[in-house]
Parts: sequence; C-alpha cells; structure tokens
Amino acid sequence: MKKKFLNKNFTCVAVSKTKSEKSIKKLYDFGYRHFGENKVQELIIKNKDLPKDIHWHMIGHLQTNKVKMIVPFVYLIHSVDSLKVLSKINRESEKIGKKTNCLIQINISNEESKYGFSINEIKDIFINNDLNNFNSIIIKGLMGMASFSDDKLLIKSEFKNLKNLYELIKNNFERNNNNIDFDTLSMGMSNDYEIALNEGSNMVRIGSLLFGKRNY
Ligand SMILES: *Cc1c(COP(=O)(O)O)cnc(C)c1O
Repeated sequence: MKKKFLNKNFTCVAVSKTKSEKSIKKLYDFGYRHFGENKVQELIIKNKDLPKDIHWHMIGHLQTNKVKMIVPFVYLIHSVDSLKVLSKINRESEKIGKKTNCLIQINISNEESKYGFSINEIKDIFINNDLNNFNSIIIKGLMGMASFSDDKLLIKSEFKNLKNLYELIKNNFERNNNNIDFDTLSMGMSNDYEIALNEGSNMVRIGSLLFGKRNY
C-alpha cells in the first residue's frame, strides 16, 4: 500500500494531521516528501521539528490572520477559498520577496458545509481578471473534495466537473496571466482516489490509508 503512492504518475500528499512526528518520520524514511496539514499551529511545529526537505502542504481552511505564519515555508496552499485570503497571501509573500504557490479550492459537492468557490464564481473571477494584480502568488491549479458518499457515479461526475473547469481555465486564461501556471489538479482522498485518478487528478491527498484511522 505504501509503495503504491510513490510513483511518477502523480504526487501523493501524505495527510499527517493529528499524527505524531514519529509516524511522519517513518513515511519520510520510506521516501515520502510531501505532507499535508489542516491546522496552522500543527503545521508550524512539525515544520520546525522535521527534516527540512519536506514539502509542506496546507490543505485546511486558512484564516487571514494566520497566513503570515506559514507563507515563509509552505510549499503549496490547497485551500484558497476567498479573494480575501488570496490577497493576504499575496501581501505577506510580497513582504518577504516570495511567490507562494496556491490552488483554488472549488466546492464541487455543493455541500453548504464545505469551503470553496462555486464553479460559476470562479469562472467570473477569471473572466473579470480579478487575480491580475496579485503578483506574489502563482495559481498552480485547483483543489476539490467530492461528496462524502458511496455513490461512485456522483463522485465521478463531481471530479469530472472539476477536471473540465481546470482545462477551461488552463486553455483560456493561462496564456495572458503571469500568475497563472496550471499544472496541479488536487483531487482524491483515501476513499475516492482511484476515481479521481481516472478522472485526471495528478495530486491525491491520502491520510488514513497511509497512517491508519484518525482518532478524533
Ligand atoms: C483529512 C483530509 C484528507 C485525507 O483524508 P483521508 O480520508 O484520511 O485520506 C484529504 N484532504 C483534506 C482536505 C483533508 O482535510
């Protein structure tokens, strides 16, 4: 199981939220270099304690007042879910002369409880060029979470919609925007990564299959 997620066809972000540094180190020794966390505090501590060549991914909802703390070291922020937080990431990145890699989170399941832009909102944002002035971020692609459901066809159609949106943005808006450089489609978790990969994902976020069930 562990080996299967280390290959050249896609990137696996090992989702280590709530897991000990010892268990992260084990996967690290196995060859994993991409780890994902959903809480800023935990991300900061683990970044400090663990090997420096780890690529840290922020995958959880990010509050603007915490952006400053992760911008200096974060590898990719998957969870950009408002222009406000994007603007803050841009400002904090500019201050330290960095360009921060971001994914736009899309609410593909249309569940009220999930964060992210709707497909129509994000189309408008690109059409209106709202991201044009953000010179210290690079939009690398999109992230989405499918419905929490056993309905494989539903999950498949949600991932398909996200992939179509990804292609639409890449084909229509990348060329004229210096801060759009699409190469990452982050979709798929432990229970739906196979469907996601079939639908064109190139980055999966795997927690429980690698670390065992979380106890919370
Ligand atoms: C927890 C989490 C995951 C991993 O979930 P598993 O089902 O344990 O693989 C992936 N993405 C996000 C955004 C998460 O919060």
